[in-house]
Amino acid sequence: MRAVRAAVVGGGIIGVAVARELLHSGTASSVTLYEKENELAAHQTGRNSGVVHAGLYYEPGGLKATLCRRGVGLLRELAQRRNLPYEECGKVVVARDDAELGRLRTIFGRAVANGVPGVKMVDAGELAAIEPHARGIAALHSPTTAITDYRAVTNALAQDFMEAGGTLLLGHLVSAVDDSGTAATVTANGVADSFDLVINCSGLQSDRLAKASGDSENPRIVPFFGAYFLLRPERRALVNGLIYPVPDPKYPFLGVHLTKRIDGEIMVGPNAFLAGGREAYKGLQVVPRDLAEVAGFGGFWRFAAGNIPAAFREGRTVVSRKAFIEAARAYVPELQVADVVPGSRGIRAQAMNGDGSLVDDFVITGSRRMLHVRNAPSPGATSSMAIAEYIVREAAFR
Ligand SMILES: Cc1cc2nc3c(=O)[nH]c(=O)nc-3n(C[C@H](O)[C@H](O)[C@H](O)COP(=O)(O)OP(=O)(O)OC[C@H]3O[C@@H](n4cnc5c(N)ncnc54)[C@H](O)[C@@H]3O)c2cc1C
Repeated sequence: MRAVRAAVVGGGIIGVAVARELLHSGTASSVTLYEKENELAAHQTGRNSGVVHAGLYYEPGGLKATLCRRGVGLLRELAQRRNLPYEECGKVVVARDDAELGRLRTIFGRAVANGVPGVKMVDAGELAAIEPHARGIAALHSPTTAITDYRAVTNALAQDFMEAGGTLLLGHLVSAVDDSGTAATVTANGVADSFDLVINCSGLQSDRLAKASGDSENPRIVPFFGAYFLLRPERRALVNGLIYPVPDPKYPFLGVHLTKRIDGEIMVGPNAFLAGGREAYKGLQVVPRDLAEVAGFGGFWRFAAGNIPAAFREGRTVVSRKAFIEAARAYVPELQVADVVPGSRGIRAQAMNGDGSLVDDFVITGSRRMLHVRNAPSPGATSSMAIAEYIVREAAFR
């Protein structure tokens, strides 16, 4: 076999899974993983809802559906082998009226087509037996939807990677990738190195690195933050597992939900609103370069013009805790504003086309020597090991 030197940029769950898969599959003989932070999983991976999605919503046969189902199986296996936290606490998607029930039936049809085990429609009485404090006219119950700790999963994948001989470089910011010479060059912390294959898994920064290496400008990353509240310990009994709304088909995010976290906390959220920067996690923090890029992108304004009601609804949850909790109280009426304290905040790397449409499925572009993961939204953490298999297969056949 030819000695293939590969590099991966980004130590989130997808980059680490790709780096590991390159070695495990024998596609590369040596792999260097660059991560700009001093720890893995510092961005989307370590700031998400921690849900192992079962594959309910996604178009049967699409990449999201296929990779999610395969990803769940691989994740369960890893959790068992590495003794990682993994709890099948179950999920209900709750319909409050007939219109939502119609949409819920469509989701149920997709879940069945996607082969999600044990999924069924339940009436209001059965819903009360699963989630006594939830209210709705009917629900979809997915008993195998699970929760985990994606930081721990990423660290376990990195452990596998290093045991297979991989080189992990933390604190290494990749400032340039160049695909124009006889090899692909990566420059990090002022030092350039050449590789036969480079895979860009830099999440919130992925479009910038892609464009810098000669890939197309679009889709662009537009950062949407999601804030969470946490239930006070004495109110955690309001939720057993995961309580979700029926998603609004006109909007790409799932809507404020109630999620049990693997450490026993109950999270309420996330909402979704334009972030002040790609990594701006503090309340009103603004990164001028990031905001200027969004403001100068025509696609964003076309998206905004087409989503005024949703932007207004989400905007209310940003400025008012009461409005935020009202969104969750629609499913758990006993929930009060006084029951919650502020929690963490995550920022989604949402890819957007020039026409303002949001990219829904996973997108991977690039040349023979350089691949870019341009869109890896939820359920990206669930699907990470399956995405890695898919990317490495793509890379091997170029
Ligand atoms: C609020 C929220 C809730 C979510 N909930 C879920 C969920 O419940 N279940 C689920 O399956 N998915 C969920 N997701 C989606 C999931 O978190 C992502 O799909 C997944 O984490 C993407 O992983 P990643 O490795 O692509 O990106 P990231 O985790 O963002 O990793 C990218 C890494 O690249 C590094 N990097 C960037 N630029 C450079 C550079 N120039 N040089 C070196 N390193 C660089 C960054 O520091 C970062 O560590 C959620 C996402 C968000 C934001």
